[in-house]
Amino acid sequence: MSETLDLIHIRRHLHQIPELALHETQTAAYLRQVIETMPQQWLTIHHIPSLPTALMVKVQGSKPQRCIGYRTDIDALPVTEATGLPYASTNPGRMHACGHDIHMTVALGVLNYFANHQPKDDLLFFFQPAEENDNGGKLAVEAGAFTGEWRPDEFYGLHVNPELPAGVIGCRNGTLFAGTTEINVDFVGKGGHAAYPHLANDMVVACASFIMQAQTVVSRSVDPIEGGVVTFGKLNAGSIRNVIAGRARLEGTIRGLTQTMIEHIDQRLQAIANGIATSFECEVNVELNQGGYLPVENDPQLTIPFIQFMKNAPDVDFVETAPAMTGEDFGYMLHQFPGTMFWLGVDGHAPLHSAKMTPDESAISKGVTAITEFLEDRMSRE
Ligand SMILES: [Zn+2]
Ligand SMILES: [Zn+2]
Repeated sequence: MSETLDLIHIRRHLHQIPELALHETQTAAYLRQVIETMPQQWLTIHHIPSLPTALMVKVQGSKPQRCIGYRTDIDALPVTEATGLPYASTNPGRMHACGHDIHMTVALGVLNYFANHQPKDDLLFFFQPAEENDNGGKLAVEAGAFTGEWRPDEFYGLHVNPELPAGVIGCRNGTLFAGTTEINVDFVGKGGHAAYPHLANDMVVACASFIMQAQTVVSRSVDPIEGGVVTFGKLNAGSIRNVIAGRARLEGTIRGLTQTMIEHIDQRLQAIANGIATSFECEVNVELNQGGYLPVENDPQLTIPFIQFMKNAPDVDFVETAPAMTGEDFGYMLHQFPGTMFWLGVDGHAPLHSAKMTPDESAISKGVTAITEFLEDRMSRE
């Protein structure tokens, strides 16, 4: 039974075994192995049958008046690591480039503290698969994982931030992460010989026209103070240089800080697609919200005291941050349970999702301290 865990060792081990969404079997097995080294007296470990790589751990409180949830994501990205670190990924083409290895390690550190010092309230640790895609949080909620005595009254979670100094906690009341909608646009016209354009209906040209018009959505239809994003990252059309393409397909993502803004952008893109269909006499099919994430909207009743605590804690450096345009699947959970998401600074040279992302590991123990102290304080209140 260990009172302390070697968190750097744990983080490096997790970093070496990154796995993609819903395939986190090595990771889940290792997490369980670490959890089993902790005192088991107050712990209950629970699995979700339909989500086998998820892990839920409840710590029994001494005089519980509420159940406080804490979530970490556990999946990695299809990125080939280029950090050159001695503990780089050993799974080819997979990397913890979003810092979820740090998230898991911090969660284990906090869990270990409360496995050794019984909390007053019940604590629920959720090791969540599939944050990057496939909506792991939503799948867990839909599987009924948070019902009955496994229902948290409030939920917390963090994300690492390479733009903040190591160990700094960042947060804001309101939206922390944008919501996203995934969008696919299919153009259907008529293929033909390159030399006979009048007998065909060229979808490369229709698609190009759509792409250019889509650039006006954010610049001309969105309040600049509120902001939004439309990005098409994938374009497919045609097969060979001298055949006119009868089909084209675009895949992209829409971001906004509120659900209202996302829906506004959705509608503008749909209207442009309708215009293209008319002017090019082709078929344009817009498919929206495939795997989109709701915005991470922090609950004011919990977030204001959270910020207050972090500002005043002598062991914590705190900054108020701006909202981020990246998406986070914790947004779905925060639409089910009130809660707060916050940043943990890791002072990296490379951004999130980069093959060179190298977070400063000194953030881990600072994160564990900040969260442990916050939870102790939260549990002491009515
Ligand atoms: Zn990510
Ligand atoms: Zn992430």
